[in-house]
Amino acid sequence: MTSPIFAFFDPTYFLVIIGLLISMAASGYVNSTFKKYDRYRAQSGITGTDAAQYILQQSGITNVTVQPTKGNLTDNYNGSNKTLNLSEATYQSSSVAAIGVAAHECGHAVQDATNYFPMRLRTAIVPIANFGSTLSLPIIIIGVIFGMNQTLIHIGILLFSLALLFQLVTLPVEFNASHRALKILSGGGLLTASEVPMVRKVLSAAAMTYVAAALATFLQLLRLILLFGGNRDDN
Ligand SMILES: [Zn+2]
Repeated sequence: MTSPIFAFFDPTYFLVIIGLLISMAASGYVNSTFKKYDRYRAQSGITGTDAAQYILQQSGITNVTVQPTKGNLTDNYNGSNKTLNLSEATYQSSSVAAIGVAAHECGHAVQDATNYFPMRLRTAIVPIANFGSTLSLPIIIIGVIFGMNQTLIHIGILLFSLALLFQLVTLPVEFNASHRALKILSGGGLLTASEVPMVRKVLSAAAMTYVAAALATFLQLLRLILLFGGNRDDN
């Protein structure tokens, strides 16, 4: 008989560790790639802020404010208050990496302005995914305590899968923002032809962190299914 406590330190825990290692590798890769191309100053001499303001203007977006935010690689677009937040490393930097990140965030602003469906879907899923990832483990644990109650356990696993759904919907949103950024930068005269491939490398590395996060969540879900998904109460 597996006790609830032992159930969380079983061999399938390796799946969680593999997920963790993949996430750490992806995060290390994006950090080192950003650092590498942060050393290349764009020939145009513009900063991340200049690039963002220029791209927004070119895209006909007038209701978005570009502002600095604290932290490392914390750049984001906030659709609810229409702000494009650039981290300190991006805001005032004229590096190729900074311009690439700023352009990527502009890609999200364009998605918002054009009602890009995956972005709308992602925004709609956020509360459901938060609800699911908060409640899934407690419900599974309660199910285990109540003699491997299959109904509770299945509800818990289903709730956890909402977190994976959120991360899967995030992927097209992120890839599309980078695609838009590269398209704008290739044609806009902000970067030279030799600088665009550098930005592509930075944005591809950033995209890998989202793939890694989805993979890690998938491995956790797989673990929950392996541990609790079978009809253990039949044995
Ligand atoms: Zn993004």
